[in-house]
Amino acid sequence: MKQSPDHLSWSTLSALVTGGAVCRACGSHDDLVTHHKLPRRMGGLDVLENLEPVCRSCHPAVEQDAVAEAELTWERPEWPERRRPRRPPPGLIRPY
Ligand SMILES: [Zn+2]
Repeated sequence: MKQSPDHLSWSTLSALVTGGAVCRACGSHDDLVTHHKLPRRMGGLDVLENLEPVCRSCHPAVEQDAVAEAELTWERPEWPERRRPRRPPPGLIRPY
C-alpha cells in the first residue's frame, strides 16, 4: 500500500495512533508519542501501518530497537546492487 492522495496530516495521524491507546512496550496510558516502526530516515512512511503508540519514557529504547532492526533488514541481499545494474530493485523507491 502506498500513501493515498488524501494523506493524513501528522497531527491527525498522531491523534489516531495515540488516542485511547497504551504504550506498546509497557502498557502505560501517559505521555504517549507516535513512533515509526520503520524510521523515517530509512524510508518509513507517515502511515498508520508504520506507526504505533509508545510512551515517552520507552520511546528511546523502542526507537533504538527499530533502527537496529531496520539496519538488519537493510543488510539482507534483497537489494542486488551488483547483479542487476540496469534495473533498480523495487525496494529502492523512496517516498521522499
Ligand atoms: Zn512505555
